[in-house]
Amino acid sequence: MTTDELAILIDSSKPLVVLLPVGAIEPHGPHLALETDVVISQAAAVRAASVLSAGGLAALIAPAVPYGVTECAAAFSGAVSVPAATLTALLQSLVESYLGNGIAHVGIVNNHLEPAHDQAVRAAINGIDSTRASVSSPLTRRWARTLSGEFKSGACHAGRYETSIMMAAAPELVRDHERGELPEVPISLSEKLQSGVEDFAEMGLSRAYAGDPARATAEHGSEQLDLLAEMIATQVSEAMES
Ligand SMILES: [Zn+2]
Repeated sequence: MTTDELAILIDSSKPLVVLLPVGAIEPHGPHLALETDVVISQAAAVRAASVLSAGGLAALIAPAVPYGVTECAAAFSGAVSVPAATLTALLQSLVESYLGNGIAHVGIVNNHLEPAHDQAVRAAINGIDSTRASVSSPLTRRWARTLSGEFKSGACHAGRYETSIMMAAAPELVRDHERGELPEVPISLSEKLQSGVEDFAEMGLSRAYAGDPARATAEHGSEQLDLLAEMIATQVSEAMES
């Protein structure tokens, strides 16, 4: 989008929403690209924009912030992390700058679910008018319960859930031959985190994934993306109406 095209949208009568996809550069098993979480946020944001426009709002997708806090996967190649305070400061600056441009609402969309990262993302909108910024992330009781059984079990890192979404959103970033031969790793990350184990290798994720990627399908991924889009559209609409 050019500056003139954006200016026309800002001046139009419809309130303009910007969705800002956030992820992490992090190992996702032998079969998914390091940027998986960013791609999931982008794909969910694209679908959410359609839901929001059907509801009378104009929604744009901002260029993503691909880097996040990723300490859990530090034992594997490709975990590229930034400090939590750095991520919070960057996201807060971006939200304030978009709002300063005349955007009505900035919806941050996060799908990297490491707790320290999710908290750093949420902290970015502290102190900002709550009608003008929101965070959508499935790391909440409200939204997690809407997603797949595997997601709810906590075995949700590069398993059937994320792999299916990637097969729907960016099949070129899935190594399908490797995927089909991977055994199920039924380890719940949420249970491990609750018991104080934060390192993937220590959790028993010997190849940086949990869950059942061999059972992933693009159709299942598309269904999960629709649920994420519903989450984003609802979070944004509720915040704007509050
Ligand atoms: Zn992921």
